[in-house]
Amino acid sequence: MLHWLIMNKILQLCLIFISVTYVFGQNKNSVKYTLNYTEKSDKVLITIDFDSLSINTVKLIIPRSAPGTYELTNYSSFVDSVKAYTSSNKIIEGSIGEGSYFTFLDTKNLYISSITYHVDIGKMETTLLGSYASSKKRKNYIGILGYSVFGFVEGLESEQIVLDINTTIDWPIFSTLRPQKERKKGVDSYFVENYAVLVDGQYLLGKGVEIHQITNTQIPLFVAVYTETEIDIREIGRRVLKSFNALVNYFGFVPMPHYTVCYEFLNPISRRHDYGFSMEHLNSMTASFDISKAITNYDSNAKIGSIVHHIAHSWIPLRSYGTGYRPFEWQTAPIIETIWLNEGFIWYISYYTVLENKQIIKFFNEILDSAPDYIKKKSLKELSLLGSTQYSMDFRIGKNLFSRGALLAHDLDVLILKETNGQKSFKDAILGLLKWTEVNKRAYRYDEIASIISKSVHVDVSKVWEKWQKSMRLQLKKT
Ligand SMILES: [Zn+2]
Repeated sequence: MLHWLIMNKILQLCLIFISVTYVFGQNKNSVKYTLNYTEKSDKVLITIDFDSLSINTVKLIIPRSAPGTYELTNYSSFVDSVKAYTSSNKIIEGSIGEGSYFTFLDTKNLYISSITYHVDIGKMETTLLGSYASSKKRKNYIGILGYSVFGFVEGLESEQIVLDINTTIDWPIFSTLRPQKERKKGVDSYFVENYAVLVDGQYLLGKGVEIHQITNTQIPLFVAVYTETEIDIREIGRRVLKSFNALVNYFGFVPMPHYTVCYEFLNPISRRHDYGFSMEHLNSMTASFDISKAITNYDSNAKIGSIVHHIAHSWIPLRSYGTGYRPFEWQTAPIIETIWLNEGFIWYISYYTVLENKQIIKFFNEILDSAPDYIKKKSLKELSLLGSTQYSMDFRIGKNLFSRGALLAHDLDVLILKETNGQKSFKDAILGLLKWTEVNKRAYRYDEIASIISKSVHVDVSKVWEKWQKSMRLQLKKT
């Protein structure tokens, strides 16, 4: 047994070595990232190694937003000690540019092949009051959202990446990129398709992280938890599986290779900090709650709407989306015209259809009725453009966006059911959008959406579509 284990380890190390050599050998432009974190420190150290580039051309870009947050987040304000290195180890200090980037200046035209910088996680959490956009650092734990720490050298964002993580020797390492119950300690490596995938991942380090793999699932399904109070991880797993199975039943297929639900139950660091918002990623979701929301025991009536909603995002918008969502413009919070679709369609699917909560329509209408005038007078597209940077800053904007999107979905559902004698429904419209993205491999333009839906259900939906494009004021005038 022992021999086999040692043999296996040696074999694994050889394979890693061969694979790393292969990646670097095949593609000269592969990029290597290293994340260093030592227990108790407030900061992580990031190193980016690449094939040497002329110093005048290098820009280190730090994200200023992330898909799904619909806000500007000034991650560069937590970055310090930015340095570039030549192959002979000459150090050049970085200077902050006009936007969210650093440049490197020298009197000579040097070639640089490495950049290092620190990210202050303690300062990040203190500054960002909405816990969903922030990484966290606690005793025996650091939970990192990829886009909050990883920048990129402009022009290299499509290259393959090798990521090394180095931390305290007895700290287990978990990542949503390759979830595993058995975790490596101190050091681990990942091969990543490109920058967008790297930053979509979450990295949970430390002895405080508990992993539960749910059994009897269609794909590997995990719950990863850091908690500062008693919780029941199996009960979380039960709720996740119930949500996941309901969605598989709805969509009829699973596009994710694996999925992880990351939970944090935290002592609030101040009364102004806001907990309870969750964030979706390609193959995972992150939920940060304060300890009063701890899940401690079996509850057959437990509310699972938020889990259903966030897992459903793995289908839409993460794998079918409008212009602006992907490819993502990391230096700003990009203008997105279809937030009502991303959020509203998923609210409708999750609550109205999957959880069969028909009363939710009333809730959406009440939100529209109570909206302030500056929201009511905006068309659907205008409101989405506004929400691109301030979705939750004035949450009446966010709520109005998902409510209008959900009510549009409902009107489409009613129309499609009627016109097809119940043969097709809104679900076929959703499957049509997913299929369209799979075939076309790009974002749909705003003017393409109604026709994609009409074609997939063989019903002309333009009247419903046009009605909902108008401001709430104009809609009322007409009816
Ligand atoms: Zn959402």
